Parts: sequence; structure tokens; C-alpha cells
Amino acid sequence: MNSYIFVEQLDIMTISQNLTNIQKTIPKGVTLVAVSKTKPVSDIQEAYDAGQRVFGENKIQEMVAKYDELPKDISWHMIGHLQSNKVKYMAHFVDLIHGIDSFSTLQEINKQAKKHNRIINCLLQYKIAQEDSKFGLSQEEINNILNSYDYKNMENIKIVGLMGMASFVDDEIQIREEFKSLKIFYDQLKDQHTQFSTISMGMSGDYPLAIQEGSNMIRVGSAIFGNRNYTK
Ligand SMILES: *Cc1c(COP(=O)(O)O)cnc(C)c1O
Repeated sequence: MNSYIFVEQLDIMTISQNLTNIQKTIPKGVTLVAVSKTKPVSDIQEAYDAGQRVFGENKIQEMVAKYDELPKDISWHMIGHLQSNKVKYMAHFVDLIHGIDSFSTLQEINKQAKKHNRIINCLLQYKIAQEDSKFGLSQEEINNILNSYDYKNMENIKIVGLMGMASFVDDEIQIREEFKSLKIFYDQLKDQHTQFSTISMGMSGDYPLAIQEGSNMIRVGSAIFGNRNYTK
């Protein structure tokens, strides 16, 4: 009986209420990316009607389908691991690509952006988590990309910062350390690369910590739209 009441109370919170509550707690200067992966267009429209304009998806085809249906002033962010052969489908509209973890992906984005005469903003994914399962580049790999002749000759992409994902653990100290290491490396790079502006870290479970540690872009899904159901 008790658990039934609890579930019902959670359901009462609407998407727009969740958004308002989160917006109230995040400082100015921190961009909220509403992660709408697996959620229907109607949910995104509800968030849009509440004023949200930045949305994140992790599958290119899903993002393209939603882009086609929804208002065109939405800023779409690709936050998932990229398959190079699908970059072409989003090159005409994607605003920021968060999870770049290879030079070849960067080359493909540059090539596709050129076809549309655009410059696409990108973030390199720095591997901060101790877990092996996470994607991401080492400091050395990131430095190699940023200082490479090939990157300097790419006219249709701009690397504007770093993205990172902390380990899925309950240990707040470990998560904080991982965010700290991302911020330190970001600050170091920002000194040499003046186009750096964005440090994307923090999700539903850890965004308050990420903001305390210097994040200026958080990617929040379930705390806005509710839990995802992957079996549907
Ligand atoms: C799904 C996802 C998020 C959002 O996760 P929540 O825990 O639902 O907030 C953030 N970043 C990335 C890269 C994701 O894939």
C-alpha cells in the first residue's frame, strides 16, 4: 500500500515542474541539456512549451526523426557514442557533438559539415572514470589531436571543450575526484586553446556535484522525463 502511494506521488510531478525545479537550483552560466533519448516527441514538446530549447539524444537516427517533427529553434546535441557512417544524417542541423573519442570521427564530421557549409562545434570525451567500460580519450591523445597539423587544417569543425562521465558508483568522493580531474585538465587546455568554452559534466544523479566542481553544461534525462523504459 505504502509503495503504491509513493509511486503515485512521483507520477504527479510533470516534466515542466521537474524542469522548473532543476532550473531553480542551477547557477546562471550553466547550460541544461535535457536528455530526451527514448522519450516520445510529446514529452519533448512539453519541455519545449515550458521554455526548454536544448535537447540531447544519443542515437543519430532517433535525433533526426525528432528534429523533423519538432520546432526548428531547438538546439540539438548529440551526446552518444558516434557511428561515423551516420554523421551525414545530422550534419545539417546538429549544434554540438559531445562524445568525440577518435580522430577519424572528427575527420568525418569535418567532411560532412563542409557539404553543408557549416562549422560544427565538438567536445572531446576525456576518460575520467576508472571503469574500463567507458569510452574516452587520454590526456595524451587529446593533446595529440589538438596540436595536430591535420586538426588545424579542418575548417568545418571547432573543438570547444571537453565532456566526461563519472563512474557509476555511490562513492561521492570518487565522483568528485573524477570531476576535479576533468576540470583541471580543461583549465590547462583553455589556457592554450582560446576557443575552449564548454565543460560538459554531470547527469541526473551527480549534476549538483559536477556544478560544484566547475561544470558549465549538464546533461540531465531521467530527473526531467522520468525513468527510461528500454524494453518498449
Ligand atoms: C543518458 C545520458 C545522460 C542522461 O542520463 P540521466 O541519468 O538520465 O540524467 C547523460 N549523458 C549521457 C552521455 C547519456 O548517455
